[in-house]
Amino acid sequence: MKITAIETLVCNARMRNWVFVKVVTDQPGLIGWGEATLEWHTRGVVGSIEDLAQLVVGEDPTRVEYLWQMMYRQHFWHGQGIVRATAIAGIDLALWDIAGKVAGLPCHRLWGGPVRDYVRTYCHLGGGRMEDFYKTSTADAQRFAELAAAAVEEGFTAMKTMAVPPTMPLVGTQSVRQAAACVAAMREAVGPDIDLMVDCHARPSPAMGLQFARALDPFALYFFEEPCWPESLDGLARINEAVTTPIATGERLTYLQQFHDLFAVRGCEICQLDITHCGGLTAARRIAALADAQQISLAPHNPQGPVSTAASLEFGFSQPNYIICEAVHADVPWREEVVEEGFTVEAEGRIVRPNTLPGLGIEIDEGVVGKHPFQQELLQRTFYPDGSVGDW
Ligand SMILES: [Mg+2]
Repeated sequence: MKITAIETLVCNARMRNWVFVKVVTDQPGLIGWGEATLEWHTRGVVGSIEDLAQLVVGEDPTRVEYLWQMMYRQHFWHGQGIVRATAIAGIDLALWDIAGKVAGLPCHRLWGGPVRDYVRTYCHLGGGRMEDFYKTSTADAQRFAELAAAAVEEGFTAMKTMAVPPTMPLVGTQSVRQAAACVAAMREAVGPDIDLMVDCHARPSPAMGLQFARALDPFALYFFEEPCWPESLDGLARINEAVTTPIATGERLTYLQQFHDLFAVRGCEICQLDITHCGGLTAARRIAALADAQQISLAPHNPQGPVSTAASLEFGFSQPNYIICEAVHADVPWREEVVEEGFTVEAEGRIVRPNTLPGLGIEIDEGVVGKHPFQQELLQRTFYPDGSVGDW
């Protein structure tokens, strides 16, 4: 069996262009689907996949680990940069899809069988509608409360919000008070049994991240995400040590050794590896083993398209320390038209029952993809009040 071609299909979904990767084989009808979505880097990723094709076309697609090693090591530059790591992941996911199809088994059954009956999911406020999630002002705590109540109405038992505004390296207490007011309003609206998460988007400095973490600690968040830059391992470790709320991070890390270093300083309690950015399922399984050794939980970052979701769920059914999966359902109204999925989502609690189809269990409708061609992603930038550049 040989790989004959690697194709990319770009599907514009407003804030992101979903980059679907199709690995084609010489066996009639046998293809694999992967995803390599990387907002604002779409052309770079598509080009990188074209570069990688030189290494893997003509090879046996079922030698997944061997091909991963080739892609990571054999163009001299190790596949650690975000563009290359995402491109490798897109192909790796498709190879696992093929491996499952060849075996006639869902991917999680290739990795030892299901370790749980269902995977829990959480939503963004607004279900992934960018205006609700990213643009609701932290001065409007009531709006946070309304959106949180709406998510509960939709069946979710856990949700994530951006209640921490863009923050200069050091500011007064207004933004901290606003964050606390937003979380208080949401807690009031949904009660004590719904899990709330706050994502700082790595906006604060370690000093400000610590202030936000302390201010929100009394609200018993499920986790507190990216309280400072991911590069600041000592900042993450300091904040994780200082509060009871578990700290989550990892979505911007792209290779195994970075995760090792994060875990070694206990920079988090929840590892948010992104299966489409950390080198794919092959790398994710190694990262999961590292996390397991230190009882660090897994909650994949997954705001991308439907292949990323299917891969994150297959991974979840195979990993004991996996706690919850990020899920977006309202980013574009035609999301469900693009894909047929082998798993089922239960309306009550938004839990997912295992996929029963081979591989990742998905079929992409190329006709629907064709209706949403590449568009330049909508720009999202932050400038602080004095005009200086900030983190979005
Ligand atoms: Mg995040």
